[in-house]
Amino acid sequence: MKNLIKNFIIFFIIFLFIAALFSMYGASGQKSDKAGIETLIYQINNEEVAGIVIEGDELKVALKDGREETVKKEPGESLSELLKNFNVEPAKIANLKIEVKDESGLDFWLAAILPFLIPFLLIGVFIYFMMRSVQGANTRAMMFGQSQAREAGKDNKDKVTFKDVAGVKEAKEELKEVVDFLKYPKKFTELGARIPKGVLLLGSPGTGKTLLARATAGEANVPFFSISGSEFVEMFVGVGASRVRDLFKKAKKSAPCIIFIDEIDAVGRRRGSGLGGSHDEREQTLNQILVEMDGFEPNANVIVMAATNRPDVLDPALLRPGRFDRRITLDEPDIADREAILKVHARKKPLAKEVSLRRVAERTPGFSGADLANLLNEAAILAARRDKKVIEMDELYESIERVMLGPERKSRILSEKEKKITAYHEAGHAIVAHYSPHTDPVQKISIIARGQAGGYTIKLPIEDKHLHTKSEFVEEIAVLLAGYLAEQEVFGEITTGATSDLRRATGLARKLITDFGMSETLGPRTFGDKEEMIFLGREIHEQRDYSEKIAEQIDKEISVFIEQAVHRARGIIKQKRDDLEKVVAALIKKETLEREEFEKIVGKKPA
Ligand code: ADP
Ligand code: MG
Ligand code: ZN
Repeated sequence: MKNLIKNFIIFFIIFLFIAALFSMYGASGQKSDKAGIETLIYQINNEEVAGIVIEGDELKVALKDGREETVKKEPGESLSELLKNFNVEPAKIANLKIEVKDESGLDFWLAAILPFLIPFLLIGVFIYFMMRSVQGANTRAMMFGQSQAREAGKDNKDKVTFKDVAGVKEAKEELKEVVDFLKYPKKFTELGARIPKGVLLLGSPGTGKTLLARATAGEANVPFFSISGSEFVEMFVGVGASRVRDLFKKAKKSAPCIIFIDEIDAVGRRRGSGLGGSHDEREQTLNQILVEMDGFEPNANVIVMAATNRPDVLDPALLRPGRFDRRITLDEPDIADREAILKVHARKKPLAKEVSLRRVAERTPGFSGADLANLLNEAAILAARRDKKVIEMDELYESIERVMLGPERKSRILSEKEKKITAYHEAGHAIVAHYSPHTDPVQKISIIARGQAGGYTIKLPIEDKHLHTKSEFVEEIAVLLAGYLAEQEVFGEITTGATSDLRRATGLARKLITDFGMSETLGPRTFGDKEEMIFLGREIHEQRDYSEKIAEQIDKEISVFIEQAVHRARGIIKQKRDDLEKVVAALIKKETLEREEFEKIVGKKPA
């Protein structure tokens, strides 16, 4: 629209300009040279003229004495008429040598035709541009329904294969089968086996789902069409479905190949449960995916892979046999996997000799593959910033905390008072963690602000854990509250620094009751249906499936858990006040304490 207006204005200006030009030209053309003509008549009557050459409205007069003059006559009036009008005697005219010369071609024609042509031309050009911009919009609208799937070709240079994916052994094992299906379909069809159509990758963000899908295509050496679930969802109803159709059409043409629908939960949510507008569109898109997957000839050799981190919200129809019947779960990497992933990403980075990726892996429980990749990248950046030629352990450790908590904010200068409060707060966390038998040992305490946190205490598990006990959780809540309680104990006053601790403690206590069935009074059941809905862009997380009375009981139970934790933590702080003071003194002096320094003050963690 803006373009149209701009075009219009430009044309208008050009038009004005040309019109002005013409009116000037035209005006000069109209003007006859009255005095000149009178002179000419006089000269003819005196027989001074030898000959006249007529060139359009111009008369080139050759005088007998050799001079030449140019006179302009009125347009449309011929010379003979002119002479007759001035009553020149015919005998004198007969003496004149009159020659008519064509006006120099182009000029003449231009002058004659242009005035008529220009407006048409302008209008024509204007209409042409109008049409073109409208057409552009049209074709764009037509393209809308086409899928925007990106195709990664077979001979892509930065092709990834299973070599680039570390850990996730079981998943790779399963996917090797898919690779075989794509490479040697005959082997399976000859035995009457039906090649699976869909593979669903499940796993939390950053566990390598997208990477693994690409690696599968790379390994099988087939084209790879990837599209994200959210790309199906557009402003217009029906676009998603049409894109699905187009995507499958394209894919079938280049079989064998892999179609990869990333973040499929964007379209594949359970139907019929949503509120809000985008719902119909999503349903149509999902239906179309189902239809297309059913519509494959049994052995079309197109395999649809999809990834999601929310399998719980997927529509059951997607999971039916014949659709995404293969489900592969990617776990968070354990320590060995983490080391392997670090190795993969360290391949092109020069590491110092003393670097032990094992030690980095030990310190990064809960990190996903993406976090680890990010960690190594951060370390490389840090090393470059420090003008080092290789990455050393220092940078790697520093990057762990950067990835976990955000960059250090050394510029945030604490006043003496604030520094003291933060030190007591963090020391409180550390001491209570130290004297709680089920919590992980303290790895690091710091009162340097990092990301959102004013200070931080890092605990590290000795080994990877998959199950957690109630005692662990109860102690964890106590540790979370310890910062708050230490402040209260020492200063008799509380600051805002404990907000996120309190929130996390409360959240954890609630989870114990509603998700883990760890409350004795409420018993082994869950509360709240976690089915998620999106309404006006806001997620409504929980649907109550319990009564008002139970809600009250849950609140009471939360308070009970919190009270227990407070009692526990306060007891430890009171009892170990000496240790607390020593840790605080060390923190104020050094700002950061590593595990060894901490244990020098308080001794080894009691078993
Ligand atoms: P997801 O799709 O599961 O959210 P991605 O596949 O996009 O995660 O992973 C993000 C990045 O993390 C990858 O590009 C890769 O660099 C790294 N990564 C994740 N898992 C692994 C792994 N198992 N091995 C190597 N790199 C990994
Ligand atoms: Mg992904
Ligand atoms: Zn805290």
